[in-house]
Amino acid sequence: MTSSSTFTSTIERADHPNRAAIRACDLVKTYGHGATAVRTLDGVSVDIRAAELIAIMGPSGSGKSTLMHVLAGLDDVDCGTVTLGHTEITGLGEKARTLLRRSRIGFVFQAFNLLPTLTAAENIALPLTLAGRRPDPAWLNTLVDTLGLGDRLDHRPSQPSGGPQQRVPAPRAPVTRPEVVFADEPTGNLDSRHGQALLAFLRDAAHNLGQTIVIVTHDPAAAAYADRALFLADGRLVDDLAHPTTADILTQMARLDTTTEGH
Ligand code: ADP
Repeated sequence: MTSSSTFTSTIERADHPNRAAIRACDLVKTYGHGATAVRTLDGVSVDIRAAELIAIMGPSGSGKSTLMHVLAGLDDVDCGTVTLGHTEITGLGEKARTLLRRSRIGFVFQAFNLLPTLTAAENIALPLTLAGRRPDPAWLNTLVDTLGLGDRLDHRPSQPSGGPQQRVPAPRAPVTRPEVVFADEPTGNLDSRHGQALLAFLRDAAHNLGQTIVIVTHDPAAAAYADRALFLADGRLVDDLAHPTTADILTQMARLDTTTEGH
């Protein structure tokens, strides 16, 4: 295990040797002031290469969601830079960041983000509709088949339909084929069978379609689908595991729990 505030993770694939989908340098973000200030990100640097599924893990409060929001251009930093392809997100104004998110970044939403007045099909296509484009029908069909949504497409989320409606939101992001997809606990609302189907789908999208995907998860089994698991502790990137197994991740989580207990 590496333990240092300057730990830098470089995630590479042999077939995309030179492409960094996202590059973060020395990110610092503090909440609050004076004695109550919390350094939520404390010098995080990471290169995320194209075509990989990355899991961000770490104890509660370690900065996972904050890092994801900053990488996705949803949140500002005190200092440091985030670059998507050739675009420095951290230098953009709010309007430009909104446009960039719509056109180049995808999000996997959980159920509460669904718009109840739209059907499942309309929710899935929403990011494209906002961008004035139409979904690729073949791609949409693949998503629908993978998640077993065939009989749900005309339903609205508010209609009583039990478990399956929870599966609707997850495909919203990948349908646009953005450069990077971010997902905060993507399997949080799913039963294990559909959770595994979604993770397998995300991994295939990374490996076969060159889609870069970053998930935040507490679930070691979910993180075991990733090509690499990054571990945060106290706002610092403290380790990464390539091709982790569930057991590898559990061991690392236990180590971090022990390390951070005394803080
Ligand atoms: P994680 O996702 O790993 O649980 P977060 O990124 O949500 O961690 O939060 C990390 C730390 O930053 C926590 O101590 C949390 O209290 C603090 N924090 C996060 N967001 C805010 C906010 N909007 N205002 C104040 N403190 C925040």
